[in-house]
Amino acid sequence: MPELPEVEVVRRGLQHSLPGRTVRAAQVREPRLRWPVPEDLDARLSGRVLRSIERRGKYLLLRFDHGALIVHLGMSGSFRFEPLARPPSRHDHVDLLFEHGTLRYRDPRRFGAMLWHDAAQGPAAAHPLLAGLGVEPLSSAFDGAMLYRATRGRRVSIKQALLSGAIVVGVGNIYASESLFRAGIRPTTPAHRVGRGRCERLAEAIRATLSDAIARGGSSLRDFVASDGASGCFQLDCYVYGRAGEPCRVCGEPVRSLRQTQRSTFFCAHCQR
Ligand SMILES: [Zn+2]
Repeated sequence: MPELPEVEVVRRGLQHSLPGRTVRAAQVREPRLRWPVPEDLDARLSGRVLRSIERRGKYLLLRFDHGALIVHLGMSGSFRFEPLARPPSRHDHVDLLFEHGTLRYRDPRRFGAMLWHDAAQGPAAAHPLLAGLGVEPLSSAFDGAMLYRATRGRRVSIKQALLSGAIVVGVGNIYASESLFRAGIRPTTPAHRVGRGRCERLAEAIRATLSDAIARGGSSLRDFVASDGASGCFQLDCYVYGRAGEPCRVCGEPVRSLRQTQRSTFFCAHCQR
């Protein structure tokens, strides 16, 4: 499943070649994604200039003057920009045709989404899918003080608090595990027991882990294709994620794993307290 860094890599790739360009046509070959793709997409977008591509959590917002196309890649969605479009294959569900090429949305499992939000309905940030999201981890609104405040009174584990998305968006299983290792915090620690200094270290670790992953071109275990068609290279050189039984890269003790609310958690019992 594409995580925040992958989506950000896609955004940067598309932001490079698309803003300022006019949509010539939209072709919806298969509207049955997680929710139906609007049937009138062609009428809505033809002749309109794509202004910018933004990201909110794991949603991409393709902004036009009259609204925004809100896209979620789901489990297996990807964008590819093809200067000379090839004949579409079975899982290529939507094309946006520009004068200089085709932006093609592919999604074998069809858990993704592509929805239109009209400017007449207000700002896209108020869309029901976006309105309840936590803060962006790479924005200035996210820091140790904010994380400290937001975790007071929360008795769930610190890892669950991160994964929930209600405090901070886009910290999926890999990045939560890695950030908690970098901050030296045991994933099972109740969120409200993580003190001020440790919240500072954790917020910094989250920013650093996500930034590293973005710099390395995003990361995912499967199904990820960056916007230029090149495979995203995972391999964040994980400290703990997926390394149960292998020696900790810092102290040499075996990395441990356990299940936390149906998700695998990896940690070093020596380095994380
Ligand atoms: Zn260790």
